[in-house]
Amino acid sequence: MIEKQTDIIVVGSGPGGATVARELARSNAGLGVTLLERGRDWRQNPLYGTYPGAMLYADRASFLFTQEGLNIIRPLMLGGATSMYCGCAERPLPWWQSKYGIDLSQEAEETVVELGIKPLPATLRGVASTRIAEAGADLGMDWQPQDKFMVPQQSHNGFDCGAKCMLGCRCGAKWNAAEFVDEAVQQGIDLWTGTKVDEVVWENGRVLGVIGQRLGQSFRLWGKVVVLAAGGIGTPLILQRSGLTQAGQGMTMDTTVMVYGHAPTKGIGQEPPMTWSCADDQLGVLYSTLIDPWLNYPLVMLQKGPAYSLTWHRWGHTYGVMIKLKDEVSGAVQAQKRGFTISKGLTADDRQRLAQAEAVAGRILRQAGCDPDTIFTTPLRGTHPSGTVRLGEMLDTNLQTEIAGLYVCDASVFPEALARPTVLTIIALGKRLARHLRDDS
Ligand SMILES: Cc1cc2nc3c(=O)[nH]c(=O)nc-3n(C[C@H](O)[C@H](O)[C@H](O)COP(=O)(O)OP(=O)(O)OC[C@H]3O[C@@H](n4cnc5c(N)ncnc54)[C@H](O)[C@@H]3O)c2cc1C
Repeated sequence: MIEKQTDIIVVGSGPGGATVARELARSNAGLGVTLLERGRDWRQNPLYGTYPGAMLYADRASFLFTQEGLNIIRPLMLGGATSMYCGCAERPLPWWQSKYGIDLSQEAEETVVELGIKPLPATLRGVASTRIAEAGADLGMDWQPQDKFMVPQQSHNGFDCGAKCMLGCRCGAKWNAAEFVDEAVQQGIDLWTGTKVDEVVWENGRVLGVIGQRLGQSFRLWGKVVVLAAGGIGTPLILQRSGLTQAGQGMTMDTTVMVYGHAPTKGIGQEPPMTWSCADDQLGVLYSTLIDPWLNYPLVMLQKGPAYSLTWHRWGHTYGVMIKLKDEVSGAVQAQKRGFTISKGLTADDRQRLAQAEAVAGRILRQAGCDPDTIFTTPLRGTHPSGTVRLGEMLDTNLQTEIAGLYVCDASVFPEALARPTVLTIIALGKRLARHLRDDS
């Protein structure tokens, strides 16, 4: 049994945990911080950013499904899901302040400046992706270049971004939360990778520490504060095992489909993902330009039906409009004796709005020149597991649970679906929480 004492324990190294750890390390408050991450650092491994690599570091080899059949990609590694994200950035939506009294604007702007967040230059947004955005504009929609956590000048051997960059960034242009962890380690925090937290230990309404497994050995870590940042699935599972059974009851997912069409010209597969977007907040959807990586495409299509897999040969000439739906809170993440289950369907209202959005995406693709007979919608998938430990229900405005000293800081805390890229909002929440912890200490 490994046993250790620290001041602040952070669980999970995605954007939530990495930001809290890095901000506390930078604050010079003299606090001992230990960051626990169940995965390992894959960035220097030759398999990072490849198809076999993605099977190794994503939960259940990328074949994690809800009971309703939605596929969820859940990277378990240093940096969390930013290891495989599309690098899109969106400032926190105004409702954080107007409905929940949380002003994240300063933290978000600091991050925008520090990480050089902005759209890719017009020459790198992709010819076909730009054609889709122009077709949307022809129909009266407000398509805009998407802000990105990408700095092409930082690429090691030239900017090399296509749909495959969702397997992991090999060219170095895309920011990853593991970079915040690197900085926190340089500033003196203790990082334990290969360390899975099972439960939070607490007594008389006050947190005492966490227990779990590290490289096959049990450990106990004692601390005055515990910040759970194990993501929209990992955090509610830890809370359930710790006796907070309300966690994981209801979730949001920004449930997603792609609408594909066969174009006469080269498709978007070799272009950076999501270079253009258009939000319709009345309908509660985000449209963007996206296609599955080449080898994932037939696997995703198999789920729809064998005939759709046969469209694989058209991949190089496919245009794709992604739809992210602001889905209602529903379903559950449930710990089981071994592992867990996820149930997340769509409500009647979700289905109706999704059908409207699919019709819009079809019109855009036809306007962009796709053959109308080739347009179809992919199966549903869950891209942003979130809203499982909701602010206002299980958390106060400082993200503290009913247990003193036990905080949550990741996508679980969303009180409602964003239907937007999540990472900039999570970083802003992490900075705000770190400031609170520092002031409180
Ligand atoms: C393919 C893909 C593309 C995406 N594209 C974008 C995009 O372009 N822009 C955007 O903003 N968002 C995007 N997202 C979503 C975004 O990456 C996630 O919403 C975000 O990373 C969530 O951050 P988090 O801190 O909540 O958790 P995560 O990033 O999920 O990190 C949680 C960490 O906790 C660790 N962990 C889990 N359980 C335990 C445990 N028991 N003990 C210890 N450690 C544990 C995990 O290994 C993981 O490293 C994308 C996601 C995917 C999968």
